[in-house]
Amino acid sequence: MAILAIQTDPVRPNPEPAETGWRSELRRAIRDPRELCQLLNLPEEFAVRAVAAAEGFPLLVPRGYVARMRPGDPADPLLRQVLPVEDELVTPPSYLTDPVGDRAAEVVPGLLHKYPGRALLISTGACAVHCRYCFRRHYPYGEAPKSLAAWQPALDQIRADETLHEVLLSGGDPLVLVDDYLARLVERIAAISHVRRLRIHTRLPIVLPERVCPDLLSWLVGGSLTPIVVVHANHPAEIDTAVSASMQRLVSAGVVVLNQAVLLRGVNDTADTMAALCERLVDLGVMPYYLHQLDRVAGASHFDVPESAGREIIAQLTARLPGYAVPRYVREVAGHASKLPIV
Ligand SMILES: *Cc1c(COP(=O)(O)O)cnc(C)c1O
Ligand code: SF4
Repeated sequence: MAILAIQTDPVRPNPEPAETGWRSELRRAIRDPRELCQLLNLPEEFAVRAVAAAEGFPLLVPRGYVARMRPGDPADPLLRQVLPVEDELVTPPSYLTDPVGDRAAEVVPGLLHKYPGRALLISTGACAVHCRYCFRRHYPYGEAPKSLAAWQPALDQIRADETLHEVLLSGGDPLVLVDDYLARLVERIAAISHVRRLRIHTRLPIVLPERVCPDLLSWLVGGSLTPIVVVHANHPAEIDTAVSASMQRLVSAGVVVLNQAVLLRGVNDTADTMAALCERLVDLGVMPYYLHQLDRVAGASHFDVPESAGREIIAQLTARLPGYAVPRYVREVAGHASKLPIV
C-alpha cells in the first residue's frame, strides 16, 4: 500500500530530477523479508514466517536503520519493531482496525479535528518504515488528498475555524513527500492568519536521517509559523551518529524537537531502556513528550505492556531523571478531547 503510494505519487515534479540523498535511500529500503534475514544472519524460517505475516501490511525498513540492529539476534529491539511475525495473525476481540476513532474524526477528506485548537492533516498514507504496532496500519489512506488542489476543502475548513491555532502534518509520514510540495502546502497553511504553529509528526529523522536536508529546513523555518517537529524513537539504539546529527540540524535551525515513544513489549519495557532513551534525547536537545500506551490495533497485541508495568517505569524515571526528561504517559480513548494521562 505505502510502496505503491510512493511510486505513484502525483506530486513529484516531472521530469524527475536525478535521485540522490534521502530519496534514493528511501527507494533502496528493504521490502523483502528474505533479504532482511540474510543481512542479519537469521535463519530462513524467520523469513518464511515473515512473508506469511506481512500480507496486508508489508515489510518496509531503510538500510541505515537495519545497520543499527545486532546481527544474529531475533530479539533485537529494532528488528522487533519491523519484522512481521506470526503473532500478528492473532487478534483478541478488544483489538480493532480503527482503535482511536480516526474515521469518525475526519471532517473533510484528510482533515482530522479531534482536539481543541489543533487540526491534523493526513498528508500521505506512505511511511519510510512500517512499524508493526502502528495504529494506522488499517487506515483507508486511499481517500486522503493527493494534490494541492485536493487540499482546498481542508484548508477552507481550517480558514473558517478561527479557534485553530496549530496545524499538524501527520500521516503516514509527511516527510516522505518532496520538499517542493510540502513548501507549497505549508505556504497555504501559513496564509491563514489565525494559524500560528506548524507541527510535523515524523519518524524520518530517526529511520532515514538524511531526510533532514537544507531544502527541508528552508520551508520548515523559513516561513511565519513556529515550527515544532515531533519525532518517534522507541529505543536508545535507534539514535546513532547520523541520527544525532539530524537532531542537531533541526535544533540548531531553531526547531522545537520533541519525541514520542510507544511502550512496546520486548522493545522498551524496562526502566533502564527508557531512562537511556530519555537521557540520549535530552543530551541532543530533544524533549521526551509522550510515552504512549499501545493502541489496541488488530495485529499488535503481542506488543502490549500492562498499564501497571508502564506506571512502574514512569515512577522509576521520575526518581532517576530530571523532571523535564520524563515523558507524559498517555493513552488515546476514542471520543475524548485530549490524550488521557495514565496516573
Ligand atoms: C494526538 C493527536 C493530536 C495532538 O495531540 P497533542 O496532545 O497536542 O499532542 C491532534 N490531533 C489528533 C487527531 C491526534 O490524534
Ligand atoms: S512511521 Fe508512524 S505512521 Fe508510519 S508505520 Fe511507523 S508508527 Fe505508523
